[in-house]
Amino acid sequence: MSTAYVDIIIDISHEAIDRAFQYEVPLSLYGKITVGMQVQVPFGRGNHLRTGYVIGISDTPQYDIDKIKAVHSIVTNQVPVEGQLIRLAAWLKDTYGSTMYQALMTVMPVKKKIRSVEKKTLRLAVEPEEGNLRLLEYKRNKRNRAKVRLMEALLEHVEIPYDLVKDKLNISPATCERLQEEGTLEILTETQYRQVGTRKELLEPEPELNELQQSLVEEFRQDYLAGDYKTYLLHGVTGSGKTEVYMHAIDTVIEQGRQAIVLIPEISLTFQTVMRFRRHFGERITILNSRMNDGERYDQFERIRKGEVDIVIGPRSALFAPFANLGLIVMDEEHESSYKSDNVPKYHARETAIQRAEMSGASVILGSATPSVTSYYKAQQGEYRLWELKHRAKAQELAQVEIVDLREELRMGNRSRFSYRLQELLKQRLEQGQQSIIFMNRRGYASFVSCRSCGEVVNCPHCQVSLTYHDHHSRQPRLVCHYCGYTENYVQQCRACGSKMIGRFGSGTQQVEAELQEYFPEARILRMDADTTKGKDGHEAILSAFGEGKADILVGTQMIVKGHDFPNVTLVGILAADLSLHSQDYMAGERTFDLLTQAAGRAGRGQQPGTVVIQTYDPDHTVIQTAGTQDYEAFYANEIAYRRILKYPPVYSMIAVLVTAKQEELAEQLAGMLADNLRKQQTDTGPEAAVRVIGPTAPVIAKIKDIYRRVIYLKSSKEDLLLQAKDQMEIYAASIGQQEEWKVYFDLNPMKGY
Ligand code: ADP
Ligand code: ZN
Ligand code: ZN
Repeated sequence: MSTAYVDIIIDISHEAIDRAFQYEVPLSLYGKITVGMQVQVPFGRGNHLRTGYVIGISDTPQYDIDKIKAVHSIVTNQVPVEGQLIRLAAWLKDTYGSTMYQALMTVMPVKKKIRSVEKKTLRLAVEPEEGNLRLLEYKRNKRNRAKVRLMEALLEHVEIPYDLVKDKLNISPATCERLQEEGTLEILTETQYRQVGTRKELLEPEPELNELQQSLVEEFRQDYLAGDYKTYLLHGVTGSGKTEVYMHAIDTVIEQGRQAIVLIPEISLTFQTVMRFRRHFGERITILNSRMNDGERYDQFERIRKGEVDIVIGPRSALFAPFANLGLIVMDEEHESSYKSDNVPKYHARETAIQRAEMSGASVILGSATPSVTSYYKAQQGEYRLWELKHRAKAQELAQVEIVDLREELRMGNRSRFSYRLQELLKQRLEQGQQSIIFMNRRGYASFVSCRSCGEVVNCPHCQVSLTYHDHHSRQPRLVCHYCGYTENYVQQCRACGSKMIGRFGSGTQQVEAELQEYFPEARILRMDADTTKGKDGHEAILSAFGEGKADILVGTQMIVKGHDFPNVTLVGILAADLSLHSQDYMAGERTFDLLTQAAGRAGRGQQPGTVVIQTYDPDHTVIQTAGTQDYEAFYANEIAYRRILKYPPVYSMIAVLVTAKQEELAEQLAGMLADNLRKQQTDTGPEAAVRVIGPTAPVIAKIKDIYRRVIYLKSSKEDLLLQAKDQMEIYAASIGQQEEWKVYFDLNPMKGY
């Protein structure tokens, strides 16, 4: 009979979660110990009993059997949240492929000594009437824009955390101090704030839920109180009142003494949203962001552990907030690709949220205007409960969408990037003093350099990608690799043939801005792209400047279509909408539909109705057509048929196996061995095989930072068989000996191409 051994960590709140100790399981406890459990073990020289957590079980000893001590006993009282998170880590490891250490590091931030900064709050120190008078005063001087912005926010919200003022409103400490000196506001430290209490009575009332919202909240409440914890998919157009539904569902959870996690893609977490949560729930909220270092995140998690907080709002990693009594996880914009981790384990926050909810008896609400095809499919299958909100809450119309055929423009002799129709509408908006957004579909739109004589493209010497042209105003232009950061000066001569006929292809935001300025010399244009948003707050600064009407036209990439409301924007132009359709992975259509819909959602958020112009070379493409009519169901019906025929997720499960090595031959050879070995282990290798093994092939980018890459795809209609195949591959890879020379990574249901 084989004896079982367990790996124990003694204290997870310290730096040492990688220091596991192996113990033997005595006969009396055999079969009773599972991962995540707390046990008592003899520890150190004196063999004093310490409490530890089980993080792994195996049947092979790693040390001399005589030196391995035995587990003393199982801790019988209630399992604390750490045990739950350890079990979640074990699930991450098994599902996505990683070591237990990597998985533990994902769920538990490590404690680091940091200088803790005291949180401050700004509070309006005058009565609202007086505040309004001062606001008018500030408005008389154009140089007071920051003061105006801060004063408007204070009049609306009365109290604002200083962090938010800094990060989201982009207001300097000097401005705050000036308003404090003149007695308009107070700056309170956390302790002062607690003593004085809040001034909620000055706030504007929240909207009453409409009938539809009310019925969803009521359904949630009845399920929840009956202990029927479900996953709901809330499909609601932008502005339909989804956030109100989340907040009222959370009411039920908190009333029952439990806690909630709200996941929001960071870029779309606006000042307004945060303040709505604070107005509704007061102080027992904490906000996480991905710029926090491990130490700061650890401090926030400590507050949560101590029970000082009921609601956490944050990006992907907020999912691991150590709530002992979690009742609900909300995931807004659930289709966003930022919910998928790029680090090992490459987990998806949606599946992980559902797993965590299952472990703690909690519900999940997924929300989106353009649900992921995966979630909508699961809702259709009855796995999730589908909720729909088809209209905007404030009775604004959705924007009118026009599709322009760029081939037709060429035939008419229009060689510019802007169709005649878009030019005409832009002119109208400028005349009427309304704002416009020009959205560039950046994918496949980078500005690369090539030779017109021999066709040579200037590539990065370390990566198999073309270098991107960057114009640094006065300085000499440079070529930059977006994968490894390599740069070189731009030289107007071909390296291959010496020709001087070398030039830029594709089109960056800079060129669009320049062309736009030629057409409309008077227009004030703001540009937002990777170059202009480099600084820590660059992003917010540009958006708030545009929001304040400092420009007529905002030109930018993906980042301008999320979140922010600009009531004065009545025109959105989308250049070359179909470019992102031609990337090679199976999600290209879904991503394009999302982008077009979200971009269209930027127009007409205020009193004036909006117009959207989609420029395309492929006006008959289903994705363009359905985005044009804003018909999600039609898009979905077409998309799911395609996924079914080509055996892609969500109908089939898929794993991308990435093999990397310093030598190309080694990558090739090892990937071949992994694929062959798995094929051999499949008893049936015909077209109906349980797991299909495809490749290895060279991925689109076959070299990054001097490391060569090969990819193998595994597909199956049964996810458990697919995960077994992954385990077999992991074991086989370990038997060859994965080290520095080569590595293998798994990506379950990838959201990007390789
Ligand atoms: P979503 O999250 O779907 O984009 P929000 O919850 O942010 O929608 O609501 C959009 C706007 O409509 C917000 O300003 C919100 O305060 C308002 N709103 C939401 N529900 C109602 C309602 N029932 N009556 C009036 N206004 C509402
Ligand atoms: Zn050349
Ligand atoms: Zn490079």
